Amino acid sequence: MRRVARICYANANKINGLGYTSCRTVGTTSALATLPRLQVEWEQLGAAPYLSTQQKRGYVPDNMSTASNCWNCKKDTTDRMLCQHCKHLQDVNTEVNYFELMDFPQTFALEASMLTKRFRQLQSLVHPDKFTNKTSREQSNSADWSSLINKAYKTLLIPIERGQYLLKLHGRQIPQDNSALDKEFLMEMMERNEEVDEANTKQELEDIHESLTKELEEKVKHLSKHFAGNNLEEATAVMVEMKYLLSIQKTIKNKLQSLMGS
Ligand SMILES: [Zn+2]
Repeated sequence: MRRVARICYANANKINGLGYTSCRTVGTTSALATLPRLQVEWEQLGAAPYLSTQQKRGYVPDNMSTASNCWNCKKDTTDRMLCQHCKHLQDVNTEVNYFELMDFPQTFALEASMLTKRFRQLQSLVHPDKFTNKTSREQSNSADWSSLINKAYKTLLIPIERGQYLLKLHGRQIPQDNSALDKEFLMEMMERNEEVDEANTKQELEDIHESLTKELEEKVKHLSKHFAGNNLEEATAVMVEMKYLLSIQKTIKNKLQSLMGS
């Protein structure tokens, strides 16, 4: 384990007019002082996960500090996708922060339509069709970027996934047991489950599903407030409740499917 810093420049570089945050990794603290920056994040990075994709393919950079050098022209590139000098598609860093990747502020509240727009822009930049006549390294990089962008998009799009990802960035996670839940809520959930159990018509099930959807929308609003106020404890509690509501919705969907099938 060695201490490295990631330096991010918002809009330091523009590709196809998109302009997104670029990050590079440096090995020493003294290098920080010389670089203009908007945001400096300290991370403990183990070399293995950071380099795994490249290592598997046998493209192992000399050391961590060269991670921001283009593998093709060897020049320093501040753009994490396409080298600004030779335009070669760079290797994927799977540890990249999804918010940075999608060029969104690291907050819970976000506009889904903007996220989808950004997703399409990024997917078009790295689309495998654009690299069919390029080097094999770029072809595999294109597939890697494509799947990473998909994963980042889905994670940030679905509120419960986005919330859990934010918690993870704060070094926390949702507790696996029920100890954090209050008895009243648990009783209510048991009743909800019974209600679903006893519902036998499509209409009954759809009604319960709809009321759960409304409750979930309310929870998402609460979550947004808690994250905005950095109240991670409260945010976690809301997400535990959301998980229950979502699991009841899943039960309803399964039951509806078997109703349709029979
Ligand atoms: Zn280059």
